[in-house]
Amino acid sequence: MDIFHNNPLFTGVRQMLGAFAKQQMRPIAAKHDQEESMPWELMKSAQALGLTQSALLDGRKKLTGVEEDPDPKKPKSQARLAVAASEELAWGCAGIALALGGSGLASSPVARMGTDEQKAEFKKLLSGLDEKGHIKVAAMALSEPATGSDISGLKTSARADGDHWIIRGSKQWITNGQSANVFVVWAQTEATAGRAGIKGFIIARGTPGLVPGKKETKLGIRASETAQVHFEDVRVHKDMMLGIAGASESSGGLADTKKMLDSTRPVVGSQATGIARAAYEFLLDRVRGGSLNGTPMASHQHIMFELAEMNMEINSSRLLAHRAAWMADHHIENVAESSMAKAHGARTAQYVTTRAMVLLGEEALEPGHPVEKWYRDAKIYDIFEGTGQIQRRIIAKHLTGTNPT
Ligand SMILES: Cc1cc2nc3c(=O)[nH]c(=O)nc-3n(C[C@H](O)[C@H](O)[C@H](O)COP(=O)(O)OP(=O)(O)OC[C@H]3O[C@@H](n4cnc5c(N)ncnc54)[C@H](O)[C@@H]3O)c2cc1C
Repeated sequence: MDIFHNNPLFTGVRQMLGAFAKQQMRPIAAKHDQEESMPWELMKSAQALGLTQSALLDGRKKLTGVEEDPDPKKPKSQARLAVAASEELAWGCAGIALALGGSGLASSPVARMGTDEQKAEFKKLLSGLDEKGHIKVAAMALSEPATGSDISGLKTSARADGDHWIIRGSKQWITNGQSANVFVVWAQTEATAGRAGIKGFIIARGTPGLVPGKKETKLGIRASETAQVHFEDVRVHKDMMLGIAGASESSGGLADTKKMLDSTRPVVGSQATGIARAAYEFLLDRVRGGSLNGTPMASHQHIMFELAEMNMEINSSRLLAHRAAWMADHHIENVAESSMAKAHGARTAQYVTTRAMVLLGEEALEPGHPVEKWYRDAKIYDIFEGTGQIQRRIIAKHLTGTNPT
């Protein structure tokens, strides 16, 4: 049963994006994977569908034609829509899906913590085309060469200087890091304040001292750009700091950063589910028409049990992502549920793609085979947006109230 069978909003979005994924993403997926190139032309046509780079700030209207109830206390549908959309797009190609939605990592904290002026400035920096004729994208720069899972040790510093902050440091593994027209950069504003002193800053490309660095070569999701970014005494006006100055967890600091991740983790889990579904459907198709040792593949119990197991895991991952998103839409704290969705989705993607490789045999080892690509794409989901171990720490803390050592 489709969990959305009674809801035309979700069904409509899934059908529209499912068709987009099939007709426009799948045909170019292998090319962008091999070339490690961003799908700039497709990104333009996706904008026309409402998949804008500032979608999180635009609300759901562009994608669905329906306005969200402006009352902040009323239930929303944005998180569930994002989860439903992500599965479809990642089914088409996870790397391209990240290229289409990577700016959401940066627009998420702006939507959450930004003032009206900051939101307007952020959207202005994302409007129009850049000098290459590409649509403009954003980057969220938190991770550093020595700081990934534990962000409290962040080395990038922000020093107050009159009406400005001076940002100094280097970021690594930043999605859209080379091409972004606007960055949300996280820096420590008070050396001794720990997590509470970490603030986000909106910085435009071209600001003196902001230097995009080396682009990384990756195992998977190769249509999405990942790069280093350096900040060499970058001067940013104090109005472009998210939250308020001062080291308190409630002032728009790291606590809000972590809440931002609670909203993106179900989406990431859902992307992983999309990869798993792609590999599962490929295998199912093969089993329906194929034979093994002279008898139909579908008559072999070991194959059918594998398919049943995959189907159960995919459904579990989807339901976990939708539960976490439903909680977000109903303003219910969902820290542990978001982590479950992300960790389970990542595990399902790796499990299904690995088993599909085994069942298909040698053909799936050929470079360029779709299952070989999905197998490579799946791995990253256990690393970014909090590794599998970090998600389990969060869930465990929720169970007992204490952090495991
Ligand atoms: C393709 C890609 C895109 C990315 N995009 C962005 C982006 O746009 N912006 C951004 O800021 N970052 C981005 N990242 C960075 C990503 O968020 C980090 O790689 C991730 O947080 C893990 O950090 P790390 O690589 O430094 O690993 P580490 O934190 O060094 O962890 C190494 C290993 O130790 C384990 N570990 C660490 N701490 C603990 C603990 N307390 N308990 C148990 N195990 C632990 C981890 O699970 C992992 O297995 C991206 C990464 C990739 C690969």
